[in-house]
Amino acid sequence: MTETFYEVLRRQGITRRSFLKFCSLTATSLGLGSAFAPKIAHALESKPRTPVLWLHGLECTCCSESFIRSAHPLTKDVVLSMLSLDYDDTLMAAAGHQAEAILEEVKARYKGNYILAVEGNPPLNEDGMFCIQSGRPFIEKLKETAKDAKAIISWGSCASWGCVQAAKPNPTRATPVHKVIFDKPIIKVPGCPPIAEVMTAVVTYMLTFDRIPELDRQGRPKMFYGQRIHDKCYRRPHFDAGQFVEQWDDDQARMGYCLYKMGCKGPTTYNACSTVRW
Ligand code: SF4
Ligand code: SF4
Repeated sequence: MTETFYEVLRRQGITRRSFLKFCSLTATSLGLGSAFAPKIAHALESKPRTPVLWLHGLECTCCSESFIRSAHPLTKDVVLSMLSLDYDDTLMAAAGHQAEAILEEVKARYKGNYILAVEGNPPLNEDGMFCIQSGRPFIEKLKETAKDAKAIISWGSCASWGCVQAAKPNPTRATPVHKVIFDKPIIKVPGCPPIAEVMTAVVTYMLTFDRIPELDRQGRPKMFYGQRIHDKCYRRPHFDAGQFVEQWDDDQARMGYCLYKMGCKGPTTYNACSTVRW
C-alpha cells in the first residue's frame, strides 16, 4: 500500500508538532496565510506520497546548493530528505548502478505520478556527447525520465533559459528543457540560483495541492514572479532620493545606497528577492 506524506514523516521521526510547524511555514511562504495550514496538513495526511526525481545536466550545482541552504531548515529537511526526493545523483548516498537502479524502480512504480525536477540543461551537439551520464547522453536520460512524469520543474536559469553555457557561440548547443520536452507541463523557476524558499514552496505546493501553480506567460509561478524587485527593494528609498553607489567600495556602498548605476536590473526583473529578503 502507498504511504501518505504524513506516514512517511512519522516513520522518519518527525514529531506532529514539527509537522504542523512545517504546514504553517509552507502556508506562509506560499502567501496563503495561516488559515491554510490546516488544509495543507489535511492534504499531507490523506494524500499518497508523490516522489520527486531530480536530474542534473550541464550546470554548476548551485541550484542544489541554494535548495539545501533554505533559511527554514525544517522545510528543507522535510521536502528534501524525508518527504519526496527519491533520486538526486548529487545528494543521494547511492552511486553508480545502485543509484540508477533506484531511478528505474521509481519510474516503474510511480509511472505517470512522479515529479521530474531538472537542474541544468542537455547539450545537443555531437549527439549529446558533452554530457554523459550512466554511459549515455544526458538528453536520453532526460527524455526517458520525462516520458512518464506528471510534471517537470526547470530549476534555475540553466534549465529555464540556457544560462551561461548557452551563450554564443554555444559550442555544445546547450538547450533549455522546454525546447526538448514538449508534451508535459513545465514549471520554470529561474534565477542563478533560484531562491531556496521559492524552490521548496513550489515543490510543496505541487505535492500538497496535486496541481501546478498558476504560471505567467513565460511559464513561471505567478505567486513568486509577479512582483518587480525594484518595487519592494530595501534600497528603494535611496533610489527615490537620488542616492547611488558610484563605485563598489565607496562610502555610498557602505551606507547601502541604490545599485542602479552599478548595473542593477531590479527595475526590469520580476522575482521574489525583495519580498523574501534574499
Ligand atoms: S542556474 Fe545558475 S546556479 Fe543553477 S545550476 Fe545553472 S549556473 Fe548554477
Ligand atoms: S535599482 Fe536595484 S538597488 Fe536600486 S532600488 Fe531598484 S532594485 Fe533596488
